[in-house]
Amino acid sequence: MGLLNRSEWYDIARDTNWTPTYASVDELFPEDMSDTFGLTLEQWNAYDEPYKTTYREYVQVQSKKDSDAYSVKAALARSNFYDNTNVGWQNVLKMHFGAVCGLEYSTVLSAGKMVRFGKAPGWRNMATFGSLDEMRHAQIQLYFAHEFVTKSRQFDWAAKTYQTNSWVAIAGRAMIDDGSMGRDAASMSIMHTFALEQGFTNLQFLGLAADATAMGDHSFANLISSVQTDEARHAQIGTAALKVLLAHGHKEKAQRIVDIAFWRNWRLFVVLTGPSMDYFTPLEKRHQSFKEFILEFIVVQFERALEDLGLDKPWYWDQFLESTSVYHHSGHLEMWFVRQTLFWDHKAGVTPAEREWLEEKYPGWNDRWGRLWDVIAENAREGREDKLFPAALPVICNICSITCGGVPYDGHHIGHWSDFGGRRYYFCSEPCKWIFDVEPERYHGHMSLTDRLLAGQIQPATIEGTLQYLSIMPGERGSDPENYAWAHQCASPTLIHKADVHGHASDRL
Ligand code: MN
Ligand code: MN
Repeated sequence: MGLLNRSEWYDIARDTNWTPTYASVDELFPEDMSDTFGLTLEQWNAYDEPYKTTYREYVQVQSKKDSDAYSVKAALARSNFYDNTNVGWQNVLKMHFGAVCGLEYSTVLSAGKMVRFGKAPGWRNMATFGSLDEMRHAQIQLYFAHEFVTKSRQFDWAAKTYQTNSWVAIAGRAMIDDGSMGRDAASMSIMHTFALEQGFTNLQFLGLAADATAMGDHSFANLISSVQTDEARHAQIGTAALKVLLAHGHKEKAQRIVDIAFWRNWRLFVVLTGPSMDYFTPLEKRHQSFKEFILEFIVVQFERALEDLGLDKPWYWDQFLESTSVYHHSGHLEMWFVRQTLFWDHKAGVTPAEREWLEEKYPGWNDRWGRLWDVIAENAREGREDKLFPAALPVICNICSITCGGVPYDGHHIGHWSDFGGRRYYFCSEPCKWIFDVEPERYHGHMSLTDRLLAGQIQPATIEGTLQYLSIMPGERGSDPENYAWAHQCASPTLIHKADVHGHASDRL
């Protein structure tokens, strides 16, 4: 029997719209679940998915991808890669699996919402494959992480993170609930597929894959590249939806939603991928600095995507560009300081040679962060343990759930807040404050970790009580994986103004 070419039957076969008779269209596609832009089914008919595939093709391609990734893993299983690799890279793996696996699983449901409530057949079709993709990502990454559970129980967090109150989980859930779960399918297609998947997943999955290859971690490099090929496909859902929305005059709202999502994703990715690339990956294996990667893969691609659609760059674009040299350095230092709260061991990565690299890639690094690391290194050398851990929780942003740090010695005080419903909300940045102010009713109920402590939800309100609340148990708590050996290499600080540093550092830490 002869088979028709796909192009001859695809449009008819995927067109699953029908005229409902038992329920009204509004009951079938309630606005809050489907489309708060309010386009009709007829208007959505213009939706043209740029990537057309059939179930038969999908299954063939995916099965090949899976067998490739699993065979590379099996072939390398006896190589003892993990035991022989650098401690920084071991912790890149712990951080990745713990932060990512649960998010992948939640996005099965994000895509599922579009499968049910997307108003265009091609959109629902692509989202069906997207949902299957995400199931694969959750499963395959859990499986790869499981191999390492016997090496360190911190790998257990691949399955555990999002069942806990870890601050990483609170931040991840807040972002995903807002952009990928808690809105109508049309808004989600913008926030989740356009801003998160198209805008940012390249950062974690392609940026780290390059470093993984350099590290000789072919198993991980293959795994995450395999995942990213799916993301690149289903991320196109959003562009196609945006074209329809913009054609019907919804630029203002679409732009606002893009701006919200891009910033929220940026705040979360920066603290995960930034330290991995600029502090954990061994110096000689670094492919690019985090900032170089951002500028090449995120800024150029995202700017082009916006321009092609006729959207503008987010209003805070200059602040974003500026922050590519700042946020992950402050975030890294803060995470090192609260390392007990992490499910990985947070490598400092500031030996003299590493600092030289950081200064070259980020001129002024020594003056901003190096000075603080000098104080920490000196405290470590002198065994002043009490000064190497925080005495209290930091102030946490009520939007992104990341600490309200900033540039040391330059406006790192909490400069952004809003009052709503009788309480004050603090923010790390102007864009986070703006997100809250656009729609405070959406966000006012969220409690940051610090809010929970102040509200008496964390008992006893001590460091130990907080660690228990985060479900981070003895044996899992992050440490300095080099046991401060790096601090001894920094024994002769190259930096000046030592007395001055002490004065500032006590304010800060
Ligand atoms: Mn995924
Ligand atoms: Mn995805």
